[in-house]
Amino acid sequence: MDLSYTGEEEEFRARLREWLAAELPGLPPRPDPLDWPGRRAYDCGWQRRLHDAGYGHVHWDASPTRRLIFLEETERAGAPYVGANFVGLLHAGPTIAAEGTEEQRARWLGPVLRGDEVWCQGFSEPDAGSDLAGLRTRAVRDGDAYVVTGQKIWTSHAEVADWCELLVRTDPEAPRHRGISWLALPMDAPGVTVRPLRTLAGSAEFAELFLDEVRVPVGNRVGEENDGWRVTMVTLSFERGTAFVGEVVACRRLLGELARAARENGRWDDPALRRRLGGLAAGFQALWRLIQRNVSEAQATGGVPGVGGSVFKLHYSHARQELYDAAAEVLGPDALDLGREWNLDRLSSLSYTIAAGTSQIQRNIVAERILGLPKGR
Ligand SMILES: Cc1cc2nc3c(=O)[nH]c(=O)nc-3n(C[C@H](O)[C@H](O)[C@H](O)COP(=O)(O)OP(=O)(O)OC[C@H]3O[C@@H](n4cnc5c(N)ncnc54)[C@H](O)[C@@H]3O)c2cc1C
Repeated sequence: MDLSYTGEEEEFRARLREWLAAELPGLPPRPDPLDWPGRRAYDCGWQRRLHDAGYGHVHWDASPTRRLIFLEETERAGAPYVGANFVGLLHAGPTIAAEGTEEQRARWLGPVLRGDEVWCQGFSEPDAGSDLAGLRTRAVRDGDAYVVTGQKIWTSHAEVADWCELLVRTDPEAPRHRGISWLALPMDAPGVTVRPLRTLAGSAEFAELFLDEVRVPVGNRVGEENDGWRVTMVTLSFERGTAFVGEVVACRRLLGELARAARENGRWDDPALRRRLGGLAAGFQALWRLIQRNVSEAQATGGVPGVGGSVFKLHYSHARQELYDAAAEVLGPDALDLGREWNLDRLSSLSYTIAAGTSQIQRNIVAERILGLPKGR
C-alpha cells in the first residue's frame, strides 16, 4: 500500500483548495443546530454547490485518495460536512450503487448527489438493536406492493427525510437472517407516522417511525426478497467503515486548537495534560492511517469496506469521547462560551459508542471475524 500522493492528486488538492476559498465566503449563515428543517436546507444547499462544481460524487469516487484529500481540504477550510445527507451520501446511496438495479441507481442516486433528496435509516426497533436480525416489522406481499406494518426507533433525521432504508421481515417462517428484505420507503406514503424523540440535549435528531399498512412497491426492494441481511451487511460496512471518516479530520483540528488554547491559558505546563493530548494526537494519527488502509482495501475489493471498519468504529468512538473530555479539562468553564454547536457535539460524543452498533458488538465482530475466536452465545 502506497500512502503518498501523486502529482495528479496534488493538483486535485490545489484546485479544490482554490474552489473552496472562492465558494465558502458566499455560504449563508449556519442555521441553529436544533433547527432540523433549516439544517436540511443548508446541508442540501452545500451538496448542490459541490455537485455543480463536479465534487458531488466525491464520497463515492473511484479513487480513495481523492476522497481523503477532499476530506482533508474541506475540513481544513472549515467547510460543512454531509450533515442531514449523512445516510443518503454515506451508506444508503453507496448500498444502492453496489446492490441496486440499473433502474434503481438511475432513480435514487442523482437526487442524493444533487442534494434534492434526503434519506434516513429504519433498522433498529424497540426489541431489535444489537440483535438486529430479531426485527419484526412485517412486509406482506400484495400484488406489486409490500404492505408494511411495524415500528422503528432511533431513526436519525426521519423528520426531514424523503426516503428511508427500511429493513422488513418478508418471511417469518425462515431462519431469522434469511427472512429479511431491504426496502426504499417513501416517507410521505400513507400510513407513515414520524414521532420525534427529544434528547436530554434538547435536539430531536431522531424519531420513532410507525408503519401502519404502508404500501411499498416491490420495485423498491434492493437485492432479492429475503436476501436483505446480506444487503444490510453492505450498508453497515459503509456506515462503520467510511461514514465517520470526515469527522476524524475535524477531531484532529480540534486537538490542534486545544493544544493552542492550553498554551495560552497556562495548562500546557501540566505534564499530565501534555501526555494526554500527545496520546490523543498519536491515536488520531493511527486512526487516519487505518482509514487510509481500509479505504485502499475497499478499493481493491470492489468498493465495499471490510471488517476493518469495525476496528475503526470501535477505536474512533472512544477516541472522540476522550477528546471531548480532554477539551473540557483544557477549557474548563470557558467551554460553555463556545456556543451551542460545540456543546451539542460534546454531548453527542457520548452516543458514538452506541450508534451504528455498540462497542461490545464491534468487539464481538473483531473477536470472531479477525481473531477467529469462537462465536459467543
Ligand atoms: C445517536 C444515535 C443515532 C442512531 N441512529 C439510528 C438510525 O438512524 N437508524 C437506526 O435504525 N438506528 C439508529 N440508532 C440505534 C442504534 O443502532 C442502536 O441504539 C444500537 O444498535 C444498540 O441497540 P439498542 O439501543 O437496542 O441496545 P441493546 O441492543 O438493547 O443493547 C443494550 C446493551 O447490551 C449490550 N449488548 C447487546 N447484545 C450484546 C452482545 N451480544 N454481546 C455483548 N453486549 C451486548 C450492548 O452493547 C448495550 O450495551 C442510533 C443510535 C444512536 C445512539
